[in-house]
Amino acid sequence: KKYIDEYAERKRLYNEVIELKGNIRVFCRCRPLNQDETANGSTSVVEIPPSQDHDLNVTCADSSKKQFKFDHVFGPHANQEEVFAQTSPIVTSVLDGYNVCIFAYGQTGTGKTFTMEGTSENRGVNYRTLEELFRIANQRSGTMRYELFVSMLEVYNEKIKDLLVEHTSEPKKLEIKQSSEGTQEIPGLVEAHVYGTDEVWELLKTGSRVRSVGSTNANEFSSRSHCLLRVTVKGENLVNGQRTKSNLWLVDLAGSERVGRIEVEGERLKESQFINKSLSALGDVISALATKTAHVPYRNSKLTHMLQSSLGGDCKTLMFVQISPSAADLGETLCSLNFASRVKGIEYGPARKQT
Ligand code: ADP
Repeated sequence: KKYIDEYAERKRLYNEVIELKGNIRVFCRCRPLNQDETANGSTSVVEIPPSQDHDLNVTCADSSKKQFKFDHVFGPHANQEEVFAQTSPIVTSVLDGYNVCIFAYGQTGTGKTFTMEGTSENRGVNYRTLEELFRIANQRSGTMRYELFVSMLEVYNEKIKDLLVEHTSEPKKLEIKQSSEGTQEIPGLVEAHVYGTDEVWELLKTGSRVRSVGSTNANEFSSRSHCLLRVTVKGENLVNGQRTKSNLWLVDLAGSERVGRIEVEGERLKESQFINKSLSALGDVISALATKTAHVPYRNSKLTHMLQSSLGGDCKTLMFVQISPSAADLGETLCSLNFASRVKGIEYGPARKQT
């Protein structure tokens, strides 16, 4: 009974928190102006109407305004707790057997890592999710028994690297294989059985450290690779013996900024082509799902292929589109907002003149 009540409550919250129907949600988060921007007198081109958490207006270079609408809009003052309060019903549905994917998309420097990883003082969605999963799992003991497993990996230039292994030599190459049940597996990927949040925090720190090994500029490097945290929940109903296994993916995507062909060559050009390819593949998959297109092109990138069993069907998807408020980033901001609108299957008309 207790289990059913909790399930019903989470379902109610899930539907209440997010008004738009469907399994694909888009949240927009705008970071504050940073010190440099404030120092050089930048003002925000992003306006979030007061007491409104769905709308966002962007002032374009010609002073016209573009309006966007999302399932939720978080302004520069929204803190990590507020963001997690809206995200929690989606991530915790993994305990009820749903596969879930959460992405942070946007230009480098807009707060993707801040939202997902956070800092030790301001922990992000990844840690808070595990904390909440442990809390619920412990509460439910009696009816349900849960086991939680964590994997962490990186996709860079279409190559998959395990982040929970300290690599002493060239990392082992990981490939995606189809299991007999038709799901996508990555044989050889470490799956750490986790029992509590302290342990999880240490694992997340290991993952971040392994990620930056071998790169001369860790921040720059991390902006060019996708970082994925996978939480696998195995559940057993102790009353009827029913077992569930579901995956929650928490993905910090590579920076979406466009790189001019003239500016770069060699390694950097190759990287940006891989990033463009995988981000557009992701956009194509989600928009095919949002518009219920018959063919969903999962196989066009490692990222979408790997996530195939967790995207579509009755899986839940949430994309955070991260933006900068600065006029200097206006072009990229509009690109990200248009991308996010497209994945939701919404097209916007031409910009309206300011009145
Ligand atoms: P990205 O992962 O998109 O490249 P980061 O998460 O590294 O961006 O954020 C860039 C900088 O801005 C970091 O110093 C981060 O702490 C800060 N930042 C981002 N979002 C926020 C926010 N909502 N509030 C406060 N600081 C933020």
